[in-house]
Amino acid sequence: MTEYQCIRYALDRPGVLTVLPGAQSIREIEKLLAYENQPEETLDYSIVGSFAPPQASGKCVYCNHCKPCPMGIDIGLVNKYYDLAKAGDKLAVEHYKTLEKNAADCIQCGHCDSRCPFSVRQSERMQEIRAFMI
Ligand code: SF4
Ligand code: SF4
Repeated sequence: MTEYQCIRYALDRPGVLTVLPGAQSIREIEKLLAYENQPEETLDYSIVGSFAPPQASGKCVYCNHCKPCPMGIDIGLVNKYYDLAKAGDKLAVEHYKTLEKNAADCIQCGHCDSRCPFSVRQSERMQEIRAFMI
């Protein structure tokens, strides 16, 4: 994976607010800072799905490779808040409730299911999230 994919992956983990990549020169620091200007395609780390262990199958890693959702749901973020909420993070529930679109907007189209490299049955999970986050 590229350094940009690694940074995005780390930032997507629940509870991670920042990352501190190592650098050996000004040039490397400048390259890392260019993370902020990278397009979404460059940050897409869904390739990890091709070398993830079998036990990782079916688990959402919030990569958003399944986007676009026709309803505009930020699928990765909704799942991250859900996992945090299940772990007891009450703030995650509050954040979830401020989202413009959430699991309640899912129309079960299945587009995300067909796009997920981790074989997550996301349309089913959206129903689960909807029931939990009331
Ligand atoms: S459902 Fe799959 S593609 Fe979508 S965010 Fe989760 S792991 Fe990534
Ligand atoms: S199944 Fe739901 S979350 Fe997935 S793409 Fe369709 S509307 Fe979006």
